[in-house]
Amino acid sequence: MGERSHDFVIRGASIIDGSGAAAWTGDVAVRGDRIVAVGEVREPAARSVEASGLALSPGFIDVHSHDDFAVLFEPEMSAKLLQGVTTDVVGNCGLGAAPHREAAVTAAAFTPGRMLAPYEGYAGYLAAIDRDPPSLNVAALVGHGTIRAAAMENPALESSEVERGRMRALLEEGLEAGAVGLSTGLIYEPGRNAREDEIIFLARALAGAGALYTSHMRDESLGLVDSVRETIRVGETAGVAVQISHHKAAGRAAWGMVRESLRQIDEARARGVDVAADQYPYTSASTILAAVVQNRWIEGASAAGAGRALGGDEVVIASSAKHPEWDGRSLAEIGAGTHESPFETARRVLAEDPAVWAILHMMSEDDVREVMRHPTTLIGSDGLPTGGKPHPRLCGTFARVLGRYVRDEHVLGLEDAVHRMTGASALRFGLEGRGFVRPGFFADLVLFDPKRIADRATPSDPRCPPDGIANVFVNGVEVVRDGHHTHARPGRALRRGR
Ligand SMILES: [Zn+2]
Repeated sequence: MGERSHDFVIRGASIIDGSGAAAWTGDVAVRGDRIVAVGEVREPAARSVEASGLALSPGFIDVHSHDDFAVLFEPEMSAKLLQGVTTDVVGNCGLGAAPHREAAVTAAAFTPGRMLAPYEGYAGYLAAIDRDPPSLNVAALVGHGTIRAAAMENPALESSEVERGRMRALLEEGLEAGAVGLSTGLIYEPGRNAREDEIIFLARALAGAGALYTSHMRDESLGLVDSVRETIRVGETAGVAVQISHHKAAGRAAWGMVRESLRQIDEARARGVDVAADQYPYTSASTILAAVVQNRWIEGASAAGAGRALGGDEVVIASSAKHPEWDGRSLAEIGAGTHESPFETARRVLAEDPAVWAILHMMSEDDVREVMRHPTTLIGSDGLPTGGKPHPRLCGTFARVLGRYVRDEHVLGLEDAVHRMTGASALRFGLEGRGFVRPGFFADLVLFDPKRIADRATPSDPRCPPDGIANVFVNGVEVVRDGHHTHARPGRALRRGR
């Protein structure tokens, strides 16, 4: 048989293979959707990409995304591709893509006015992705809040046995379709009404499938350590791996508590519980304003504890479809000239537009670094693909870690940081054949300049793409060339175990 030439060879790159091992200089050959050779490649290729001076790593895996509907509505997914992300894990924080009727409510909160085309269950959702593919790969978590809303007569209550059975059936449909796990959002309606035993009951269904339990925990403020304990108990009791989502200590009064929460993680791991966390690299958070008000985190809410309440300057409207003039303005600015407390301003804003998104300035830089340094922490953007002025983490997360926290501030080594965005993430979320630069693996690759890489997304220009990302390949197809989207859409729905 004659020697087949490669489709392309990337030559002379500093290869960071995703395992955490030291970078080394070499070539990577790709044929079809796979990496076929790594090292010194002599065979001919239809195309050569000269990459000396650039780093070549596996495409980044965003383990914490909320792009369930964005991948259908905006399949080019520039926000992610232009920062080197080649796989999105969707369905985080209890917000899932099925059942369709309940998912459509979430879709409307992200993208008001757009209709979610019908599909049936997770099988239907993943098939819809394959039918009209986005530019990146998509793996899905089943969202607990979404199945709970579908399964219960009144989701404001605790669940009955019958209702738990319905939830479990919906979860099992997702797992059979290839979902990689179950997520909860225990500050949100209706997930917050679930008792621990309901979650353990559902998590047991994950054990047989080898799937993961991820959680936006009940309390990331003064109750942080108790919440971490609850999350660990779910994993330990149900016998499943657990992932603490966007690990942080929220609110001044809780700053420093991550030392204890990380110690809890270490202790649990030492006794054999498979627990880890993920993080976005910012000191501000973002969520729906309704949850912030319901949890009474804003100054002027009677139950807000001292040091826990956010001031009017610390809560900024990210996106309001009804009042775009609020986008980028703080509660203090919106309430100026009135005698309202920040809490009252927030309630007035919500009365006019219940679907408002907010940015919350509430973490400490020291805690961000402490969590990042912990060996189990993965990187996930928690990006919220809304209109208006979304949190800059949507477009900046991966470049910000590699620029600010690796090159400029030496919080992590380069290979270690890449490992937490690629190989470690693929192993944790069961993404087979992804996350490493190795022969036989899928050619999800990113070429970047470690000396130039930097996030450029800011609160006022949140969709500005990062600097220093040269080329991005998904399943062997070039999606970003010299920093520009090629409009190719080679993404796939990823199914656990397949
Ligand atoms: Zn969350």
